[in-house]
Parts: sequence; C-alpha cells; structure tokens
Amino acid sequence: MTAKTQIERRGLPLVAIIGRPNVGKSTLFNRLIGQRRAIVGDEPGITRDRIYGEAEWAGRRFAVVDTGGIVPDDDAVIPANIFKQADVAINEADALVWVVDVRAGVTPLDEELARLLRATGKPVFVAANKADAQRVDAEALEFTRFGFEQVFPVSAEQGLGTGELLDALIARLDFAVVAEEEGDRGREIRLAIIGRPNVGKSSLLNRLLGEERVIVSPVPGTTRDAVDTLLERDGQRFRLIDTAGIRRKGKTEEMAETLAVIMARKSLERADVAVLVIDATEGPVALDANIAGYAYESGCSIIIAVNKWDAVPNKTERTAAEFERAVRERLKFLDWAPVVTVSALTGQRVERLLALAERAWQARHFRIPTSQLNEFFERNIAPFGADVRGRGGGRLRVQYVTQASVNPPTFVVFTAGGRPGLHFSYERYLENRIREEWEFFATPIRIVERHRS
Ligand code: GDP
Ligand code: GDP
Repeated sequence: MTAKTQIERRGLPLVAIIGRPNVGKSTLFNRLIGQRRAIVGDEPGITRDRIYGEAEWAGRRFAVVDTGGIVPDDDAVIPANIFKQADVAINEADALVWVVDVRAGVTPLDEELARLLRATGKPVFVAANKADAQRVDAEALEFTRFGFEQVFPVSAEQGLGTGELLDALIARLDFAVVAEEEGDRGREIRLAIIGRPNVGKSSLLNRLLGEERVIVSPVPGTTRDAVDTLLERDGQRFRLIDTAGIRRKGKTEEMAETLAVIMARKSLERADVAVLVIDATEGPVALDANIAGYAYESGCSIIIAVNKWDAVPNKTERTAAEFERAVRERLKFLDWAPVVTVSALTGQRVERLLALAERAWQARHFRIPTSQLNEFFERNIAPFGADVRGRGGGRLRVQYVTQASVNPPTFVVFTAGGRPGLHFSYERYLENRIREEWEFFATPIRIVERHRS
C-alpha cells in the first residue's frame, strides 16, 4: 500500500477518508473527486480500484484516499482493525475526514474511532453525513463533543454541505509544493467519446490524436481494462477516457450495440465532458437517444458532434440548421447541448471539439458569487415566484436559493409551508432564468429542494 500511496499522491497534499462501514465514505469520496455517477453499494470489490483520486476545489488540487476501499468488509466490525488496515493511509495523510452517519447517531464504534483518530494528532474534519434534511442538522451537533476541528453536516449523496467542508480542508492543507509544480494549469479535462456503432468514434479519436497541435501520451486508466490517452493542446491537458474501448468492435451488430452502450455508461462515470457522436447520414435514431439518455443522467457536460458531414449530399446554408432541428426534436432533454457538424474524414471542425470541451469545463466549474445569486433571487423570484405551486397541489414558499456545488452546478431551493415537492414547471422556470443570466455552456444544472415545514 505504501508504494502506491506515494506514487498516486504525486506531491499533492493527501486527505484520508475514514469511518465505520456504510456511513457513506465511498459516496463522499466520489463526490469529492467529482464523479457524478458514483458506483457505491453492496457489490464487494466494486470500489476497490477507485480508492485514490484527485479532488480540486477553488483551483487547488489534492489527493484523496478512501480507506473504506482498503477495509475488508468482514473484518470491519472490529474498530482496531479498521484502523490497522487504514494505517498507512492515515500515516501519510495531511488531514483526515471522519465520516459519521447522523441518522445512526454516535455509536460505540464511533467512540472508539474518535479516540484513535485523536491520537494521530492530525487535523480531523467531521463529515456528519446523510444530513439530507434540515432537521438532522441538530443531530450533527452531537458529534461536536469529540472536540475535532469542526463538524460539517453534509449529504454526500445530494452534494449538500460539501462546499463548506472543502473550504475548511483547503484552508488547512499546504499547497506550496504543488503550486510550484503545476500551478492552475495542472487540471485536466476528462473527455468521453460516446455513440452507437459506426458513427465514427474511432475515426474521430484518430483524427484528434493526429492533430498537429496536439501532444499525445498513453496512460493506464483507473481500472485494469481501461486505457486512457492524455492529450495536450495549447497547454490544456485532456484525458480521453478509455481509448481502447472506443476502438473495440463487436463481432455482430447486436454485440456492437451492447458494447457501445456499456462503454458509454462506464466512460460517462469518469468524464467531465462527453462528446456524443451522431451519424449525419442516418440522422438521430432510437439508439442515439438511448445513449444520450445515459449521458444526460450522468451529469456530464455534453457536446453533440454530428459526424460524416462530408458525406451529406447537396448541402445548402440551411442543411446544418435543419439537422440541428431534427436532433433537438429527438433529444429534447439536451436542449442546452451545442450541436457541431464535423468530419473525422476531412478533419473539418474536429479540433473545435476540444475548444468547446474546455469552455464546457469552465462552465461546469463556475460558481456564481453569492451576492449575484442573492440579487438574482430578489429580482426574479422574490417578487413573482416566492409563492409557488407545489407538486402536491398546495402552495409553497421559496425562501432562497444557493449554489451548493459545481461539477455539475447544483442549486438548492429552500422552501417552506405546504408539502415539499416543487412543481416541475417551476424547476424549469428557475433553470431557464439561471441560464439566461449565466449560460452554463453545454452543462446540465441540478436543482434540489430543501424543505422546512
Ligand atoms: P461506505 O461503506 O462508508 O463507503 O458507504 P457507501 O458510500 O457505500 O454508502 C453506504 C450507503 O449509504 C449507500 O447505500 C449510500 O447510498 C448511502 N448514503 C451515502 N451517503 C448518503 C447520504 O448523504 N444520504 C443518504 N440518505 N444516504 C447516503
Ligand atoms: P465507430 O464504430 O463509431 O468507432 O466508427 P468508425 O470510426 O469505425 O467508423 C465507421 C465507418 O464510418 C468507417 O467506415 C469510417 O471510415 C466511416 N467514417 C467515420 N467518420 C467518417 C466521416 O467523417 N466521413 C465519412 N464519409 N465516413 C466516416
């Protein structure tokens, strides 16, 4: 474990996530390293190869280790053992995040862990997890009695409160080494190329890798069978996710389709931005919509690349717009995703995909300054919409709106009165108003309600 820890942190400050089983360590880990479709849950081994990751907050990067990935489930009931297994990670860590479950409250195992954690003398931040509803914030206070740095009520699942935790964390970490090495350009954009068979994914990939202005180096992916490729353009690094998977072909048509869907789903888990490839000569078909649906659910930013544009006959100045209309009609839920016509064969506009991905990445990491969001609320919501229709038919009062996180941008709407459940049309209104103001290019926006009765 030691060697791996040293390699993986690459000079970054290291944060270890500790806690008894099932408190939500993996969920928080995935949240911190920005994987939206976290694989958590009961299958043993599924988180094992994802125990290291890199997180970024306010332009600062650090390494995170999920000690839950080290602990064998069977032994986990013995606290001393939890600690022993996670020992190396804890020894190496610069700060510790102790995850507890506010719903379960303080358990004997927590008492034991608290004692052991205190003995390390390292800064310990308590993440009081599963604080999904306002009322459990009070329960989180129970954990303040251990006297650690600070207790943060969070919902790893919904991404609530993690901003405050991250703010506190980076305030305590020493970034001196990293700042010299990489500066702010150290960040990399994780890009997935997805689409049904024969739309031209591999051709597009080859074209991207063959661009003159691009520097390419293959790297192992985070899982054993995935091979990613690093690419640099104008000083910006991109990680093309699972380039081996993009090239893989199924033997039969049916197998190829199944593979394409599996590949899309796996790559989307790790990506920031997805390029969804559609074949211009066949137009959007059902399987395109199916894969687009997974892309939408993943929370990735999305760029729709209409490939083989060279092969479209008798083009006029209206052809592109007409094709875009057909795409929009079929993929209504992606109305915020830009559509670009490209040709992997001739290279037309292919490089532009990288520029668009960069812009999308900026958008998905954009945090609206609180003062602007408050002003937005006063102007757009307070006068007209503070008293709105709930899903249950009753009235709801919208009290205020905050941006809980980025990557993807997530907004929390605080409501009161009536029964919880914002009406779909209201969420839509809010999203549209936010987009008019800040665009969030190519990026989905999440809206979460928090209700106080
Ligand atoms: P670990 O064993 O500590 O790594 O825990 P996991 O991350 O695997 O989570 C254990 C269970 O708690 C899973 O079923 C998660 O979906 C659930 N969980 C994690 N975070 C939250 C949260 O914030 N709220 C709720 N309600 N459930 C959560
Ligand atoms: P994949 O299955 O999505 O990876 O698709 P491939 O990259 O293997 O391409 C499938 C077929 O479409 C191949 O015969 C390619 O030569 C062809 N193709 C790919 N891109 C283009 C393009 O931009 N224009 C034309 N005319 N053909 C293309």
